[in-house]
Amino acid sequence: MTADSALGLLRPETLDANEGLRVLNPANGALVAMVRRYDVDETAAMIDAADVARREWGARTAKQRSDVLRAWYDLMVAHGEDLALLMTLESGKPLGEARGEVKYGASFIEWFSEEARRAYGEVIPTFATDKRVLTLRQPVGTCAAITPWNFPLAMITRKVAPALAAGCSIVVKPAEATPLSALALETLAHRAGVPEDLFRVAPARKSSAIGDLFCTHPLVRKISFTGSTEVGKVIMAKAAGQVKRLSLELGGNAPFIVFDDADVDLAVAGAMASRFRNAGQTCVCANRFLVQAGVHDAFVEKLAAAVAALKVDDGVASPGAMGPLIDERAVERVSALVEQAVGEGARRVGEVHAVPADGAFHPPVVLAGVTEGMTIAGEEIFGPVAPVLRFDTEAEALRIANDTPYGLAAYVFTADAARQWRMMEGLEYGMVGVNDGLISTEVAPFGGIKESGFGREGSSHGLADYMNVKYCLVGGV
Ligand code: NAD
Repeated sequence: MTADSALGLLRPETLDANEGLRVLNPANGALVAMVRRYDVDETAAMIDAADVARREWGARTAKQRSDVLRAWYDLMVAHGEDLALLMTLESGKPLGEARGEVKYGASFIEWFSEEARRAYGEVIPTFATDKRVLTLRQPVGTCAAITPWNFPLAMITRKVAPALAAGCSIVVKPAEATPLSALALETLAHRAGVPEDLFRVAPARKSSAIGDLFCTHPLVRKISFTGSTEVGKVIMAKAAGQVKRLSLELGGNAPFIVFDDADVDLAVAGAMASRFRNAGQTCVCANRFLVQAGVHDAFVEKLAAAVAALKVDDGVASPGAMGPLIDERAVERVSALVEQAVGEGARRVGEVHAVPADGAFHPPVVLAGVTEGMTIAGEEIFGPVAPVLRFDTEAEALRIANDTPYGLAAYVFTADAARQWRMMEGLEYGMVGVNDGLISTEVAPFGGIKESGFGREGSSHGLADYMNVKYCLVGGV
């Protein structure tokens, strides 16, 4: 596995050494590649072609579509090492985690290749003896997707696999920082037999202009967006003009609640996996730790020790380390949040000081003494920082946890079965992890409520999001 073999997955026409998008390695600032950018007219032409391609694709049997998706999955697995290296080079995500994302991303293609064959309609018991009532499930049509940089590969397969399984076509605009994984995926899809015009990746000359195109092109029937709540709102407003179908996977502010009766070691392990994976740049990662008074000090002490033991390094040289943030701007933003919290009275209790001097690294840190009013308790941090708040009662924990406009993921650690139920039911979130800090899987519906968005990815719900339900009535029977 070398950078050259990994970059060999990209078709030469997707690179542009003169005017291309500069893809930089966040771990050292080195130029990885220069990628061709598409303007509005070129992307509109891709949408037109995709709308033609979907007619033939949609007319195939579900089994035929499933076989092509399965071949794409097999190619992803076969090229797993190259895909992981590309991801590490462009996003900084350490190789160990990048390998995990290749498997996770591929699992959506495998799942939807199977689910493609189960898009059943219904025959509904009739209301009149001479009539029959039924539903058909049909593809939504041509779709457009916009994806973020934090999961450069899985955020794409979560959308493209169900779209193709349902019989749709799709044009994807990847994040500026991470187009290489997207382009490599496109190459493998086409090699597997996905018709070229059916699925296209279009790095943008200007993201907002492509967003506007997706919202106004009459052939785009659905937009699936994963990214910040701020941009999601812009897309929702613009897509209203043509009442386009939308899925919005937006930001979060996940509470991680630890009760006195919890297994503290299990909670610390869950906290480390949830908060520090991808250097804290995960929409579902624990963003604030609410810890009950009886275990507060023990939890803080153990979490601080686990954080202090983290190694921070370039993710190629150290596949198991914690890597850099996406860029210097992200480091400055996270540092400012930490400084502000310290200024407001929080204490740094566990921090890694040995951080590479070059590259966009931020030291992982635990902040104790955080209180509800502090900015850091209300904002999505998107960095390796664990703010800890103390609480006394279950009602107080639930109130603080729900006191946010976001509603993506929440975590609860408690041994009390009745309390587990109360929290699962009471937390106003799209997903709840009980005694576990890692919840994402292709078999379950991933998505949020409130300002974290709507729509679900993964599971049978993920396929339904790319299908229309058509009710038909047959009379004169
Ligand atoms: P972002 O909103 O800045 O960018 C996301 C994508 O939108 C990128 O491709 C970007 O180029 C594009 N974009 C930016 N401005 C646009 C505009 N005006 N019109 C159209 N497209 C535009 O978000 P980000 O910083 O890249 O990603 C981090 C955010 O994504 C975090 O808030 C995180 O929580 C969220 N996220 C959510 C999920 C989820 O499933 N809910 C998953 C991953 C990330």
